[in-house]
Amino acid sequence: SIILAIESSCDETSVAVCNNGKITANVIANQTIHENYGGVIPELASRVHQQNIVPAVQQALSIAKVNKNDLNGVAFTQGPGLLGSLLVGVSFAKSFALALNLPLISVNHMQAHILAHFIDDPKPKFPFLCLTVSGGHTQIVLVKDYFDMEIVGETLDDAAGEAFDKTAKILNLPYPGGPLIDKHAQQGNPLAFKFPEPQIQGLNYSFSGFKTAILYFIRDSQKENPLFVEENLADICASVQYSIINILLNKLKKSAKQYNIKEIAIAGGVSANSGLRNSLSQLKDSLGWNVYIPAFQYCTDNAGMIAIAGYQKFLAGDFVKQDVSPMARMNF
Ligand code: ATP
Ligand code: MG
Ligand code: FE
Repeated sequence: SIILAIESSCDETSVAVCNNGKITANVIANQTIHENYGGVIPELASRVHQQNIVPAVQQALSIAKVNKNDLNGVAFTQGPGLLGSLLVGVSFAKSFALALNLPLISVNHMQAHILAHFIDDPKPKFPFLCLTVSGGHTQIVLVKDYFDMEIVGETLDDAAGEAFDKTAKILNLPYPGGPLIDKHAQQGNPLAFKFPEPQIQGLNYSFSGFKTAILYFIRDSQKENPLFVEENLADICASVQYSIINILLNKLKKSAKQYNIKEIAIAGGVSANSGLRNSLSQLKDSLGWNVYIPAFQYCTDNAGMIAIAGYQKFLAGDFVKQDVSPMARMNF
């Protein structure tokens, strides 16, 4: 069976094709317009989705070498995300499915980030723990089956991606700053500066105090040396990244112990971070974990992950009707 999948929850318009469980196209149209504003402007995002969606669908079908009449189902991101952005993808998917008389498949964006692990080998075995770290979420998820997931820990305030992006903003790096911090960090000393680890009980996270600590640290250092950031950029980035990774992995280790699980995955945009990928690989040996790290193209927002999730729902016969609407907030 052949599934077309649409992702439009934030600022990427993405369309993918899944052919019998293989992703044969994964077109991602990035929106560069938001760079000028230091963050995603929802109004602009939905307008650009409207411009991008039809060409992206045509491109995906052509790359996958399938005709729209060969399709068996249409999957789309129902939520969570920006309502105006979601609306473009949901409306498109609904009319496309209606016109071609195809079943409609609703996909949860956060579940899809995790299910991206079922695109390529090696695939994690159930039950596994997944640290989902993205622009809007930071969760430790106990994954019992494709659509049987339980959040066992999550951030009480900011997401890890936000901690990266807000630090980048303080350092005057353009949006989204996560990848740039990663790049500069590779030239820096991760132990040059020390930042306090938030003291949160259990398996939850908090990043808002961490962000404030960095803000004050930079401001105080600049009072003594106005060129502090310019002269120490690589060391600052390496140290901030090292701290965020430590915070993330400490709770992941704790949850692995608590649930007695050694199948460990990461997902979401921040799982593209080279420091996090390296640190996690090292735990493979020291803790005897089986570690699963997605390919780069399936870390940040993409429709490939929506397509693979949609394919699993297609096999299960889990469809939605035409009265479905986008959900800015959406639980598993
Ligand atoms: P959500 O999935 O929670 O709805 P989102 O869809 O906006 O949020 P993603 O596209 O999954 O988020 O991830 C984007 C985030 O990943 C941004 O915060 C970005 O800075 C971060 N990110 C991407 N690459 C890297 C990297 N190499 N290092 C650190 N952060 C990164
Ligand atoms: Mg994005
Ligand atoms: Fe995402």
